[in-house]
Amino acid sequence: MRIIILRLGHRIQRDQRITTHVALTARALGAEGMLLDSDDSGIEKSLEEASGRWGGSFYVRRISSWKSEIKKWKEAGGKVLHLTMYGVNLPDAIPQIVADAGNLMIVVGAEKVPPEIYELADWNVGVGNQPHSEVAALAIVLDRLMAAQGRDALRTQFTGGEVEIVPKKRGKEVISK
Ligand code: SAM
Repeated sequence: MRIIILRLGHRIQRDQRITTHVALTARALGAEGMLLDSDDSGIEKSLEEASGRWGGSFYVRRISSWKSEIKKWKEAGGKVLHLTMYGVNLPDAIPQIVADAGNLMIVVGAEKVPPEIYELADWNVGVGNQPHSEVAALAIVLDRLMAAQGRDALRTQFTGGEVEIVPKKRGKEVISK
């Protein structure tokens, strides 16, 4: 299953840090890339730096029409999961998503999302039905989706980076490659 993120409603001043965290989390937990509905090039640059240093091929692509990206994705057979606290609670939605989904676009909002997205999505999914954070929601959905397919999001492999962490009980070890 290919997974890409669609980040909607990014405000250049206000959301820079959290959108970067959405992308870093998506990358760390095995998503392929993120489409950013904004002309903010800073996020793209930060993630290019992260991939150069830590490996992998995660990308950020700025887009100008989220609707046409969804249309293209669906025409190619992909499904769309919109993360919203108003949706079907994740544990209740997971079996159907895993059974039906080939490739998956996960839509994550910043400010209030356009109402149409609720209709365009194949699934509107809540990670619990309380308000919290898009970063938390994304991390949990990626982890659970992969676990339901027998994969471990925390064992995603990253190749081609300049450095690699050697996990340690105490202290820090980073090797140059
Ligand atoms: N104020 C915005 C509104 O009224 O829609 C929502 C802000 S919220 C922090 C930003 C994004 O986090 C939402 O668009 C949604 O994607 C995600 N989010 C927050 N809580 C969630 C939850 N319980 N389940 C799924 N996604 C959630």
